[in-house]
Amino acid sequence: MLYRKFGNTGEELSILGYGCMRLPVLEGDDAKINEEEAIRQIRYGIDKGINYIDTAYPYHGGNSEALVGKALADGYREKVKLATKLPSWSVRSREDMDKYLNRQLDRLNTDCIDFYLLHALNEQRWENYKKHGVFDFIKKAKEDGRIKYIGFSFHDELPLFKEIVDAYDWDCCLIQYNFMDENFQAGTEGLKYAAAKGMGVLIMEPLRGGYLAKDVPDEIMDIWNQADEKRSPAQWAMSFLWNRPEVGIVLSGMNDISQIDENVEAAGKVQPESLTEKDAGLIEQVKEIYKSRMAVNCTNCQYCMPCPVGVSIPGCFGFLNTGAMFEDMKYAKGQYKTFILKDNRASNCIECGVCEEKCPQNIEIRNMLKEVVKEFGD
Ligand code: SF4
Ligand code: SF4
Repeated sequence: MLYRKFGNTGEELSILGYGCMRLPVLEGDDAKINEEEAIRQIRYGIDKGINYIDTAYPYHGGNSEALVGKALADGYREKVKLATKLPSWSVRSREDMDKYLNRQLDRLNTDCIDFYLLHALNEQRWENYKKHGVFDFIKKAKEDGRIKYIGFSFHDELPLFKEIVDAYDWDCCLIQYNFMDENFQAGTEGLKYAAAKGMGVLIMEPLRGGYLAKDVPDEIMDIWNQADEKRSPAQWAMSFLWNRPEVGIVLSGMNDISQIDENVEAAGKVQPESLTEKDAGLIEQVKEIYKSRMAVNCTNCQYCMPCPVGVSIPGCFGFLNTGAMFEDMKYAKGQYKTFILKDNRASNCIECGVCEEKCPQNIEIRNMLKEVVKEFGD
């Protein structure tokens, strides 16, 4: 296992983090964790050198934190840094922040959460936090030792990401990033921006919901197989991330010993800037094939924004493209409904046409937004 210094915290953390949102379950019920097996797997990962464990209040129907608390008994708590997240959508007052944090300390059976993140920030949640005094909360929770480091996870557009990064002396942030999402949400620019400020950067969705590793088309496998050093598709996706010096930790939600072994093996090899030019070329070729399957040629450049009625144009197209590229509109629809707020959805478009004048790709934005509504509804 390789370790990196995590931003300005000075902590040496494993480049692979254990995400506890896809633990093994019973009867296909996400809320019923197979406790014995999940504890065995988490401890197996720690024994292999993973020292960052990530959970959150809502994972597994609210049962993940308590399970992690159990997994970290018997001396395992001391071997890792523990991270969880404040459920931003439930915060309606300053007191709520303390209420949830205290409940999480109980569930996790610990006195201190090493890395505490404001969960899934978007514009609305960020404004809500500021209104309710989040900075006072952070200061007091750090002073009284309930949390050690503070950060946030993010699901919105790049300008807001930069605004949040600049608004406080954060220790870390968690962004969605993979070789297909260099221009999505925070993207490469956001990654570099946060790292340059001394923040430790964590990555989620390294496999884009698993799609970069499962049912990989033959034409893509043919490209991967041209490499001098053989890697599985999952290892390619992880290697792309670890190759970037700005990346601190890549989180992977693991639920199988062979998956842990596969990730740990890759995490023992990839130093920053260690991929060859040939490797980088193969990744580019794979990207091009996935991109050729996109429904709309949007580069997320943001020139069309802001829309006068609030439509998140590149956000809507991003999910339409996910559905088209991986031939799974059902999954893309779920993501769209989760991450695009009602006020920002394609159905709000009044067809004024202002955006089309600004789009360098000459996309027929109005027509394509109708496609989005057709696929995903209101
Ligand atoms: S055409 Fe629709 S998406 Fe474009 S600016 Fe007007 S309302 Fe917004
Ligand atoms: S201007 Fe065009 S390419 Fe750029 S984000 Fe908007 S729709 Fe996409």
